[in-house]
Order: sequence, then C-alpha cells, then structure tokens
Amino acid sequence: MTETGKAAVWKGRYDIEVRDLPVPEVKDDGLLIKVNAAGICGTDGHLIHDDPPYEAIMCHEVTGTVVSMGSRANESLNVFGGPLKEGDRIVLYPWITCGKCPGCLSTRPGTCTVCDSSFVYGVPYSRLGLEGEETISSDISNWPYFMGGFAEYTYVFPETYVWKVPDSMPSEIAVLLDPMAVAMRALELTLTGPGIAEAGLTTDSRVAVIGSGQVGVLSALLAKVMGAREVIMIGSRETRLNLSREIGQADHVIDYHQYSREERIEMVKDLTHGGADVVLQCSNNVDTFIDGLEMMRRMGTYVEVGNMVNQGKEVSFDPARLVCSKHARILGMSANHPGAFNKAFGILERHEELGLKKMFTHSTDLNGLLAVLKKMNDHDYLKGLVIP
Ligand SMILES: [Zn+2]
Ligand SMILES: [Zn+2]
Repeated sequence: MTETGKAAVWKGRYDIEVRDLPVPEVKDDGLLIKVNAAGICGTDGHLIHDDPPYEAIMCHEVTGTVVSMGSRANESLNVFGGPLKEGDRIVLYPWITCGKCPGCLSTRPGTCTVCDSSFVYGVPYSRLGLEGEETISSDISNWPYFMGGFAEYTYVFPETYVWKVPDSMPSEIAVLLDPMAVAMRALELTLTGPGIAEAGLTTDSRVAVIGSGQVGVLSALLAKVMGAREVIMIGSRETRLNLSREIGQADHVIDYHQYSREERIEMVKDLTHGGADVVLQCSNNVDTFIDGLEMMRRMGTYVEVGNMVNQGKEVSFDPARLVCSKHARILGMSANHPGAFNKAFGILERHEELGLKKMFTHSTDLNGLLAVLKKMNDHDYLKGLVIP
C-alpha cells in the first residue's frame, strides 16, 4: 500500500478539501520535508478568490523537517548554512527561476519576477500575472503532488534556495522569512548609492509607512532597526495599529478611517516638519499611492510595495507637482532575490528581542484553513499560521 499524507487541495473559489495524496518518491537531486509550519500570505487570500487552473496546494511560506533526501541534494539545492542531512529543519525561497533567460542572465539566477519562466511553490504560474510559462506544473495529479505548503509534506526540487533553520529558531518564526524578505527589499531600495544628492534612509530619516498589514508592520520594524529616527504608521484596524506600535515600533499611528485624506496628509507633514523623507507604501489600495506622494518631502524616497497584487487598477495624478517639482525618487518592487531573503533570515534570528511571535493572530490545522482564509479581512487579523 502506498503511504499517503494530507493536503489542503484548492479546488475552486473558497473551496478547499483536505485529501490524502501519495507520499512521493524522492529523486536523487531533491528532498522531501514534513511540514512543521506554514504561513498564510496575502497572496493566498488573493488566490482563493478565484478558481485554480487545476487542483493545487497553496502556500509558499513553508518550514519543515527533511525526512527523505536524494544522494545529490546538497549539490543540486542552494543551501545556506548547509550541508543538510535528514532531520534538519529548512525554510524555502519559493521561486525557482530558469537561470537562462535575459532577466536571469543580467541579474542572477534566483531573482524572481525578472525571469521569463519559472516555478513558485504554492502558486500556479498562470495566477502570478506574469507573461512567461510554468517550468514545473503545480497540478497535484502529477508527481510529486506536494508542491505547496498547506500539506503534511512539501517536495523540494533541485535549484531551490533553502536555509537550514537553527535550533534557536522556532518553525513559526522561520515561516516569516518571505514577508520579512519583502520588507527587507523595500528597505534596501531606500538606501542611497554614493554620489546621489537625494538622501535615502539615514539616522535622521522620518519614515511614513502606509498600510498596517504584515509587510507594513515588518517594514516599520526594519526602518527602526536600520536606524530611522521616527516611524509614522498610517493604517487601519485596532489590532493592526496596536501591533504596529508593539512589533513595528511605530512612534506615531494614524488611523486611516478616522481622518480625511487631507487631514492624514497634514498630520504626516506636521509630524515630519514638512514631509516624510522616506515613504513605504505597503497598502493594497491604489489611491494611497498618491497620498504617499503628497506626504513626502521634496527629494524624498518612495517605495511602492503594496499594490503589486493590483494589476489593472489605475490612478491619475499630477506628475509636474508630485514627481518633477519634488525630485521624487520612486522605486517599485514585486518580490525579490535570495540575498534579501538571507538578510531577512538574519533578522529572524533576533526574533526574541524583536517580539516576532506576536505577528500571528490566527493559528489552525489543515481542516480549519478555509475558515481562517475567510477571516483575513477581520479587524483582529494580521497573519495566520498553519500547523498541519
Ligand atoms: Zn508570502
Ligand atoms: Zn529566467
């Protein structure tokens, strides 16, 4: 009899079924992990709104224990902190890029979203909004079945970047690697190269963070860790605003819904003596893109993170006043490279001092997953954890 493991199969819009799938045979260049913890990302909340292209398993934030390992896995995978052996815990970089397309060649392999064609754990390629092709199908009817984190197992393919999780790091902290890496990349973008007059993030910076979701809270925290003088959070929902103070170390918190747009902009200008030096737009709301430009001082630095999932939504604004006159430095990102993940991993190692365990407001097993996915817009939700 074939051994099986449970998986939360995404069958349709708000339709998940926990089902037994065969535990896959491990090839000599891959490995299999038993999932210890998986994080619910905003992406999963976005995906479940729609039908999948085929039955698939969601989740790209996954940590597990190596239970079966191919003989060449240490060579075929990219292992930070390795070599690996069975029994080690690891966390994954979710993208496997092709390494050969112009994007990969001109940046470096592993750097997601510049690649023409790739594979992402837990996200069917056609749902990424990119133009390339999937290199590995996430269809659960194909070997190795377990290709997303909401399951008892996840198969790890060759070329995957993985980090060996030290004993001092709980699995639920390790699953914060992906959102922390997004925040890390946003903060990296604010730094300034030599010879540029427009100051990026410095010890004198007053930073405005728009959006109190997981990336906003972690971006506020990183701004403080990286030396910002003051951080102002413009967000919503009481729990998130409290956590922006507690985890994000925000010095000032402005409730988005309590004030008019003009009032919010004026408040930030007052608190920053004329405008924020750095604006991190982490909200999934196209209108706040302009609010952020209004709140920023001349020659400020602006990073747009939150609208990466809003393809097709548009805004109009006055580029002469808000961009040219301001000498605005506007930078965009979607996701990022293994180097940013590695720096984020270093921050996760400081989880106790930074109180990162408080990020999880909801926790469930596979059976309760759908219920938590439906709660993602609740006032008390910040991040969900799945322990299969
Ligand atoms: Zn994520
Ligand atoms: Zn490529």
